[in-house]
Amino acid sequence: MTGSDGGRLVVIEPATEEVLAEVPRAGVAEVDAAVAAAKASYPAWRAVDPAARASLMLALAAAIEAAHGELSTLEARNAGKPIADARGEIGMVAATFRYYAAAPERLTGETIPVAGGVAMTFREPLGVVGLITPWNFPLAIAAWKIAPALAAGNTVVLKPAELTPLTALRLGELALEAGLPEGVLNVVVGPGSTCGRRLVEHPDVAKIAFTGSTEVGASIAAGAAASIKRVTLELGGKSANVIFADADLEAAAAAAPGAVFGNAGQDCCARSRILVERPAVEEFVDLMRDKMLQMRVGDPLDERTTMGPLISAGHRQAVASFLAGESVAASVPVPDGSGFWFSPTLLYPTDPSSRVATEEIFGPVACVIPFDDEAEAIRIANDTIYGLSGSIWTGDGARALRLARGVETGVLSVNSNSSVRVSTPFGGFKQSGYGRELGPHATDAYTEVKTVFYATDAKM
Ligand code: NAD
Repeated sequence: MTGSDGGRLVVIEPATEEVLAEVPRAGVAEVDAAVAAAKASYPAWRAVDPAARASLMLALAAAIEAAHGELSTLEARNAGKPIADARGEIGMVAATFRYYAAAPERLTGETIPVAGGVAMTFREPLGVVGLITPWNFPLAIAAWKIAPALAAGNTVVLKPAELTPLTALRLGELALEAGLPEGVLNVVVGPGSTCGRRLVEHPDVAKIAFTGSTEVGASIAAGAAASIKRVTLELGGKSANVIFADADLEAAAAAAPGAVFGNAGQDCCARSRILVERPAVEEFVDLMRDKMLQMRVGDPLDERTTMGPLISAGHRQAVASFLAGESVAASVPVPDGSGFWFSPTLLYPTDPSSRVATEEIFGPVACVIPFDDEAEAIRIANDTIYGLSGSIWTGDGARALRLARGVETGVLSVNSNSSVRVSTPFGGFKQSGYGRELGPHATDAYTEVKTVFYATDAKM
């Protein structure tokens, strides 16, 4: 089978460099057909009783749980991520649908006392929403968008990244098996330059929710502006891991590799700038080197693997370009032979104005930057166009809160490197994007507020 333009999309397994699957490559015609299907199914989906919509979402969560093993293996092979991580992500996909299954019955409005009658507000769905997602956390990021969009009564066209479309395609099948009506969730697999662009420009698409690079995000915002299309953007990051000398350095060093080499560094929340208070720098670098040497880079399907390959040969080349002229303080061996392997690398010392310290690398490369006091830590942490994530490690609670308020990012952790939970808002400051996903308010991004005034006084 081919797409309408006759093309096929070859999906490569990053750990072997072999063909994992071939799928028809969608073009503009398939996007138009998917939007038409979503538009046709919208009135009926919107009218589904909220409790029934909730039941369908729970049925989809159950179907994902039943397919957990299959989806995890597919994600691990297609995205090159360790199987244990893939299991966690697919677990989160099911949890996301469960969490937003509660939303249809909680989309309440307000009544507002006004002269001459009653004003009330409703949360109305937008219509057809277009979702465009990246290759690093393929199904998890898609679920963050699909679940609140469907819960609020919208219908969806999802365009996953062309490098990792397989779990999204399977989700489309599971949705039908779980009883979602045809046309409510549509998946089109094709290039961003044709399919993605068509979704952004399509007159029947009310909103685009995008996760990806800041560069593409800017072009999407510009493309959507012509029709005042709603847009939310989750973009790049260059997050800081700020470590004070009074922190539990063992714990900070144990957590630091996962915070930047997790998902092979292909993580918008990667804490790739490790800011360490000057008196603790040498000890921290030694501790982190020891922890890095406990990493195992290799076959994603091996239970002992902690880091897999990068997504592609081209991406490996882009990541490697950052290392020229830098001082390597620690690195980890990788397998020989096929696979887009890249050694987790700690750079120290580094120039704070160098490319490694200022640009998003999106690979397993971290740099250590010393600082002298709180004010300097905040200044360096904020000296970036991005503002997505970050951590603060200190034994001083008041200082932790001062830093947490001073660092310009959407999410931040104290004495931890976690960023994402289904029940808490996630999103960026500055060029890391706008809008929030996850948490109790994510449905706001998929609804409009309508105010209705009901006159009780004949004169009004
Ligand atoms: P990308 O921007 O290249 O692609 C993302 C998606 O956009 C893909 O589906 C792609 O096909 C599509 N696309 C590309 N050009 C398009 C266009 N002109 N019009 C419409 N769609 C288009 O990003 P990527 O390489 O897949 O992912 C890596 C980037 O994503 C990194 O910058 C990373 O920081 C970011 N990211 C951000 C978050 C977050 O939540 N903030 C999460 C994950 C990844």
